[in-house]
Amino acid sequence: MFNKILVANRGEIAIRLMRACRELGIKTVAVYSAADKDAPHVRFADEAVEIGDSAPRESYLNIPNVLQAAKATGAEAIHPGYGFLSENATFAEAVAAAGLIFIGPPASAIRAMGDKAQSKITMKAAGVPTVPGAENLAGETEFIEAAERIGYPVLVKAAAGGGGKGMRVVRSAREMPEALDSARRESQNAFGDDRLLVEKYIENAHHIEIQVFGDQHGNLVHLFERECSVQRRHQKIIEESPSPLLTPAIRARMGEAAVQAARAVGYFNAGTVEFIFDPALSSFFFLEMNTRLQVEHPVTEAVTGLDLAAWQIRVAAGEPFPFKQADLSQRGHAIECRLYAEDAAGGFLPSTGRILRFIEPRGPGIRVDSGIVTGSEVSRFYDPLLAKIIVHAESREAAIRRMRAALKETVLHGVTSNFDFLQAILAHPAFAEGRIHTRWVETEFNWQPAELPIEALLAAALADGTIQNPKSKIENRYEPDPFSPWKSGNGFRN
Ligand code: ADP
Ligand code: ADP
Ligand code: MG
Repeated sequence: MFNKILVANRGEIAIRLMRACRELGIKTVAVYSAADKDAPHVRFADEAVEIGDSAPRESYLNIPNVLQAAKATGAEAIHPGYGFLSENATFAEAVAAAGLIFIGPPASAIRAMGDKAQSKITMKAAGVPTVPGAENLAGETEFIEAAERIGYPVLVKAAAGGGGKGMRVVRSAREMPEALDSARRESQNAFGDDRLLVEKYIENAHHIEIQVFGDQHGNLVHLFERECSVQRRHQKIIEESPSPLLTPAIRARMGEAAVQAARAVGYFNAGTVEFIFDPALSSFFFLEMNTRLQVEHPVTEAVTGLDLAAWQIRVAAGEPFPFKQADLSQRGHAIECRLYAEDAAGGFLPSTGRILRFIEPRGPGIRVDSGIVTGSEVSRFYDPLLAKIIVHAESREAAIRRMRAALKETVLHGVTSNFDFLQAILAHPAFAEGRIHTRWVETEFNWQPAELPIEALLAAALADGTIQNPKSKIENRYEPDPFSPWKSGNGFRN
């Protein structure tokens, strides 16, 4: 087993990974950018190394600086988390070339699955069902011909895509030229690559993905599904396991297809095979494989009882994964809500600012993975994911009730967040009935934030005047109760 691991990431995932290390008795090294000097993940680690400026390119994506930090601290392995360098095969190779262990799949598997066009071709050859479509097309005419063959609507997609970027739904030949242009532009900007593919756009689809896990001794299993259909801009907001849609027979078939997909590229460690599920036909198609730990891994941890981050580290160190498929089962129901610093009423644009107060919910079956504390600065440099709230209960109904109670207890002040938006979805009958498809938020859910009642504003004003004013010279420093009128700095006299 390793003595020291460097975590090449930030935010909630960096802390979650370091916690796994701590439980395994492994020392941790954090890396951080200028903007993250005081970030919680830096304080959580045993050691921390500054690796560059705030822009990701200068720090969290800077391979030489990350490797240098590992060398300088004597770390033996690097965990990339998700995002950043996690799906970068060149990084995985560079880690190995530096004599260190990359905690993740083999570089060859990352490369084979890194490109949506190439991975679809590989999957078709391996007998995994893929969405009808066409890859490696040249001009507009070829795209229109392919779309006519497939049948509208179609989806134009960046081959190098990720994070929902570079995707356009096209409903007729007339819409094709503009869709190609804008998808190309977005893809070039985000990934430095403008290759596109086209595939059948499946209406009212569900996103259902399978967690796979393997060791370096040939044991490769699946850890069941996650339903991730609550999305905005093709990006997940709420995930759960099990999926309310799957029958045991379809679950078993999807699980087998995912293992087959992973086996075809010589996979080990944790990975996720994403499928688009057509409820009308009860059929599923391979979308892509994410060759890393996923944001929503905690729901799988809850229902399987396995610590995926710890097992990632253990199999990277060469340990066998001791569970066979027949040993594994799903227990109860888990839901995750992603708390984002974004304006759900204003096009989901990211917001920034200082967290004035953050109080996490607590209680049986509630887990919070967060990268913020009261006082944290949310900058424009990074992904706006602040925290994840995960609940586990005996049934889906109980899990929904538990999540609603947990959200009610959470306090988050200082930045605009999707907090009210999450509560509204959890309270919606469509969610209770499990019939939310991937475009539901954008097409059917007409959410508007509630106006604050005047009583709330009055209470806030009153509280503001009553709580000690730090600038005031007449503060009573002998009064321990911060809400006492004797503590007040607003000129109150007996
Ligand atoms: P998941 O299924 O784990 O949510 P995503 O593809 O949505 O997978 O990405 C997970 C995280 O990785 C996102 O929150 C984002 O921070 C980061 N990420 C993924 N792809 C990109 C990208 N192309 N550019 C920037 N960040 C990305
Ligand atoms: P990314 O790398 O950005 O995660 P994916 O291919 O996994 O890209 O797709 C992201 C989301 O886009 C899916 O979860 C789904 O909502 C939607 N999507 C992708 N392909 C299709 C399709 N063929 N039909 C309908 N929706 C799709
Ligand atoms: Mg995806």
